[in-house]
Amino acid sequence: MKLTQFLSVLAVTLAMVGSALAADHKYTDGSCCDKAAKKGEKCAHPCCVAAEKEGKACAKCNK
Ligand SMILES: [Zn+2]
Ligand SMILES: [Zn+2]
Repeated sequence: MKLTQFLSVLAVTLAMVGSALAADHKYTDGSCCDKAAKKGEKCAHPCCVAAEKEGKACAKCNK
């Protein structure tokens, strides 16, 4: 495989991985937010709602 081909495959792979991570906010497995997300809902804890507004996962609950 040529280097340029390899680099384009790598770029596509990284883009897919990046969008997958952004989609689920990197919740910790088993956290309140993770459980809510798996039910198609959002966690109702005040700390989690506040973090969600900033587009982040709650740092207290997702360690
Ligand atoms: Zn939560
Ligand atoms: Zn929280």
